[in-house]
Order: sequence, then structure tokens, then C-alpha cells
Amino acid sequence: CTACGQPQYRDDGSFCGYIGSCTDITEQKELQQQKDAFIGIASHELKTPVTSIKAYTQVLERILIKKGEHTEAGMMRKMNDQLDRLTSLISDLLDVTKINSGKLQFNPQNFDFELLVKELVEDLQRTTDRHKLIEQYLPTGVVFADKERIGQVITNLITNAIKYSPKTDKIIISTEMKDEEVCVCVEDFGVGISEENLNKVFEQFYRVSGDMQHTFPGLGLGLYISSEIIKREGGRIWVDSQEGAGSRFCFSLPVNKTETGL
Ligand code: ADP
Repeated sequence: CTACGQPQYRDDGSFCGYIGSCTDITEQKELQQQKDAFIGIASHELKTPVTSIKAYTQVLERILIKKGEHTEAGMMRKMNDQLDRLTSLISDLLDVTKINSGKLQFNPQNFDFELLVKELVEDLQRTTDRHKLIEQYLPTGVVFADKERIGQVITNLITNAIKYSPKTDKIIISTEMKDEEVCVCVEDFGVGISEENLNKVFEQFYRVSGDMQHTFPGLGLGLYISSEIIKREGGRIWVDSQEGAGSRFCFSLPVNKTETGL
């Protein structure tokens, strides 16, 4: 129940009480919980068959390549790519339900931040022929955080940079260490984001509306999940962008001073 009261004063200025209204939000809360539970169950149920189909299509692709049936192998490759997309959408939905119910688990460990960025850039360069991922690394340090989750954020920023720059090819990934923080930035020269939308891109299910919505598929969850992960790890995430000129997404994490195990 939320209440918002206005203080009331007599003519002589003395306080006489509050006038306010009270709204019962129990029902709204229950609806939200039901919605989260439904998304959680539905995405969990979808995950199992998709994983199983993917296992079969991967085997079929290998068989077709061995047999030299390249056209069919190519079709199977496309099926696999679409299944990867589906898997990633399902895991985003699962992550959101975990975040909303406070059940997102973290398994922190010491790792070399710069090395993780380099490995991911190498993997992601293989996913695009159109873009050139340019690396500008300054030495960083060891962080104590959930390596997989941090990798998920870096992957999200780079895949977004690729997705939202269909007509330009340059993407710059840079790292640095400043004031006891490691920092990574992903800069593209693509469609950019208008000033009015800049603050909203980290919100749950937020997508910039208009023509762009149809051009670029997505659920509007990647940046929300990323910002929740970075917040939980004690870091900061931000964006600078200009519509039509490109965007620069960065995040920083505190360097661990006590856990120096590497
Ligand atoms: P999705 O890409 O699935 O829509 P995200 O949460 O990753 O979800 O991004 C939210 C919105 O922020 C996107 O719909 C897009 O409008 C905007 N956005 C994210 N990254 C970029 C980028 N690199 N360039 C321009 N717009 C971006």
C-alpha cells in the first residue's frame, strides 16, 4: 500500500494534519508476480526442446559436410544460427525472471579482465564478415567477479554494436585502468541513439520505437540484464551516443585489492 500525504496548516500557520490518498497495490504486485512466474515457466519449458533440436541439427550439419552436400549443409548452418538466436532470447527471459525475483546467482572468481575481452573479441569477430573489430588495449588488472556474467555483458555490447551499425564496418573495443577501476568501451559508428532515449535504453523491455523496431529484432532485455549484472558487481555502465553518428557503451568494475590470486 502506498500513501502520499500533503501536510495541512491552520490560518495561524500551525500544523493540523495530513490529507492523502492510499492506493492498494497488492493486486498489481500479484499480477506482476504471476507475469514473472509465467515468463519463467514458459522460457524454461522452451529451453529443453530447443537444446535437443540443436544437438540433432549440429550432428546433421556435420554429416552433410562429410558427404559433400554443401547446399544442404548451408541450410542446416542457417537453422543452427536461428536456434542460437532462440536460445539466447530464452536465456535472456530466464535471466530477467531471476533478476526480478532476486535469484540471479553469481559465482565470483579472480580473472584477467583484458584477457577475457581479447578472447571474446576473437570469438565475435568470427560471427561477422561485415565488421572489423579494432582492439585498443591498455593494460588492466585482475578483477574478482563472475567471469561468465561479465563475459555476457561484453558479448551483449559487441553484438549490439554489430547489430546497430548495418552500414558502417568499424567497431572499436578499448580497455584501460583508471582510479582502481578497469574499464571497457565498445564504440560503433552506426544508427546511434537520440538524447531523449539515451536514459531509457537500460530499462527492462525498452526498445527505441519507430522504423528501427522492425529493422532490428530484439526483446529489449540485453542492456537491462547487463546493467543489473554490472550494478551487482559494484561497477558502473553508461553510454554516450549521437543519433545517426554512433554509440559508445562502457562499463567499469572495481579492481580487487584483497583477492589477488592470479
Ligand atoms: P535489443 O537490442 O534486444 O532491443 P537491448 O536491451 O540490448 O535490447 O537494447 C535496448 C535498445 O537500445 C535497443 O532496442 C536499441 O534501440 C538501443 N541500442 C542498444 N545498443 C545500441 C547501439 N549500439 N546503437 C544504437 N542503439 C542501441
